[in-house]
Amino acid sequence: MAESPDINTDTRYRPEWAAARRIIVKLGSALLTCRETGTLNTDWLGSLIDDIAELSKHGREVVIVSSGAIALGRHSLSLPTGPLQLEESQAAAAVGQIALAHAYSDLARAHGLTAAQILLTLRDTEQRRRYLNARDTLLTLLRLKALPVVNENDTVATNEIRYGDNDRLSARVASMIDADCLVLLSDVDGLYTAPPNSDQNARRLDVVTDITGDIEAMAGDAGSELSSGGMKTKVEAAKIARAAGCDMVITSGKLMHPLRAIAEGAACTWFLAPSNPVTARQRWISGQLEPKGTITVDAGAEKALYSGRSLLPAGVASVAGAFDRGDSVIIRSHDGRELGRGLVAYAKKDAERIIGKKTSEISTILGFAGRDELIHRDDMALHRLHRNDRGS
Ligand code: GLU
Repeated sequence: MAESPDINTDTRYRPEWAAARRIIVKLGSALLTCRETGTLNTDWLGSLIDDIAELSKHGREVVIVSSGAIALGRHSLSLPTGPLQLEESQAAAAVGQIALAHAYSDLARAHGLTAAQILLTLRDTEQRRRYLNARDTLLTLLRLKALPVVNENDTVATNEIRYGDNDRLSARVASMIDADCLVLLSDVDGLYTAPPNSDQNARRLDVVTDITGDIEAMAGDAGSELSSGGMKTKVEAAKIARAAGCDMVITSGKLMHPLRAIAEGAACTWFLAPSNPVTARQRWISGQLEPKGTITVDAGAEKALYSGRSLLPAGVASVAGAFDRGDSVIIRSHDGRELGRGLVAYAKKDAERIIGKKTSEISTILGFAGRDELIHRDDMALHRLHRNDRGS
């Protein structure tokens, strides 16, 4: 006989949900729009806003990251199904975003909330000054008790400078404003050990406490027709959120009142953040989406980094990529593990000449006096070596 779930030990009832004060909710196009008619699922969206209104009554702050602009717009413009040209998606977004903003504004008002639209581009989160500016706007809106609704500014984003998926965008937003919990409402209810549609033995994970190679392999590439991300970008989002100390949960958005369902123990996968907090600057560094290169360090330097030191040229075995001074790079161990990320103090052409050399030799080799460190401690965010599991 099946035992009834015990709310104290059943991992479905995460205390993280009850404790989360600032929550980001990301919803994908497949949930928001009806596949056949290309229209907005207003009833479902209304039930979500109802949940959000309930959370706000209890003093919890919510930010929505909403897709749907392209899916809505392409239908209004009678664009064909299948992949769109960049300019067609930009045009579709221009049309769809108005409908989206209108719907959020109306539904929020009906629940006594004020919706606010924020359209971000990749540069708004990757350049520190713009990042701080976007953060201030979001925090001000929250202080004024508005309901921010964020999307990528798809009308101006080009392939080189776009997120392309709202999973990573929502994690970047979560990290930007120190959110406690990121909810990814999806057309699947979590991360499975194998594709659930084709493998009978596929099992959903309740809790993930570390993004291991196995977890990345489980994510594969699968996605639904309307979503840009699939599981792969969700696991990427989990990395960004966890590095920011933010828990993330993937759950099905196919049912009405999807947030209430989380509180009631709906099936989902929780990605728990490590408990030791990181600084805001480290968080920004570790969440950088496009590292420009890789710096491989020797075993001695790896040890030094984990004891809190800066990375000196002497401990570097090789550099790769095309980075300039100040760019973000991946730090790797000699056996290929990613140790963390950092902002490098030298351009690649200079770094190549000083690696393996003593700090005192730098100015003679380069002909100018640069910094002693290749990556200063303050410009580095290391992944943690060991995490204490907080769940099963
Ligand atoms: N920003 C896109 C839109 O609003 C969607 C991106 C995604 O599906 O993740 O249509």
